[in-house]
Amino acid sequence: MSPRIRSRREFLAASSLGAAGLCTAAGADAPASRAHIAITLDLEMARNFPRWEDTHWDYEKGNLDAATKRYAVEAARRVKARGGVIHFFLVGRALEQESVDWLKEFVAAGHRVGNHTYDHVHMKASKPVDVQFRFQRAPWLIEGKTVPQILRENIVLCTDAMKSRLGITPAGFRTPGGFSNGLEDAPHLQRMLLDLGFKWCSGKYPAHPNTKPGEEPTAEVLDGIVKAQAAAQPFRYPSGLVEIPMSPISDIGAFRNGRWKLDSFLKATRLSVEWCIAERAVFDFLGHPACLSAMDPEFRTIELICDLANRAGERAALVDLNTVATRVGG
Ligand SMILES: [Zn+2]
Repeated sequence: MSPRIRSRREFLAASSLGAAGLCTAAGADAPASRAHIAITLDLEMARNFPRWEDTHWDYEKGNLDAATKRYAVEAARRVKARGGVIHFFLVGRALEQESVDWLKEFVAAGHRVGNHTYDHVHMKASKPVDVQFRFQRAPWLIEGKTVPQILRENIVLCTDAMKSRLGITPAGFRTPGGFSNGLEDAPHLQRMLLDLGFKWCSGKYPAHPNTKPGEEPTAEVLDGIVKAQAAAQPFRYPSGLVEIPMSPISDIGAFRNGRWKLDSFLKATRLSVEWCIAERAVFDFLGHPACLSAMDPEFRTIELICDLANRAGERAALVDLNTVATRVGG
């Protein structure tokens, strides 16, 4: 182990001591004693997938198609077989579909389902019409409301739908999209989430280098993505809300923005997870079954992450984001 890695581990150990008084669930799995590897999948439709020309999903993010649901179910089965669970984030409008039995089965199997708003709204929109494409076509849905009112209502609707149809309260909150500074510049959003009962949110997606569309990543780009893992570690905002960032690079970053081949995504993921294991840090994989079912139909990325975590033995654990939150007292 290099001296640089040792000093970072010491730093992490020291921070965990500082938070120890606030930790209850961490128990024997003390923060920084092992890497925390989370597999999170956002349950929503995504423009450009399965076909590049598919853009209508912008208006119906929650209208999950059969391939997306099948992928989520099989991913959950595979991760459970490897000793982990998946932390899903659900766009509430999906709960308008005829059957939600597949989601109930996730809950029964111990997988987590968090709130991803009802319509996949833009949390930092400056005017109502920019909150969601749906409201451009159907402005009467938000008539006379301010952006903060629309956001609050959209988050509450998702929670209410989950309670009503799944019989659960959401396991945390993830902002639609992601922000390179998380909610640092939006203390009103931090307060709103705390007020709605959330102890943590996943809203930061750190900046990292990417290629031009269609180019495969160079060593320099891959190195930049690995370096960005340090900026994707959980922390607390001054308000007390815990932030659990998404770890670059997401499937959307690789397959939509970079238009990479699967092998490049696997390489970037492997290098990033290896860094997190060596540093006993957190890796919060962000994928979308709507994208992965088209780009990684054989589940190679999810299997790779499970392989790396399992092979690391005591140095890593496959966990949900509630467990990650305990590292910083959440
Ligand atoms: Zn999303």
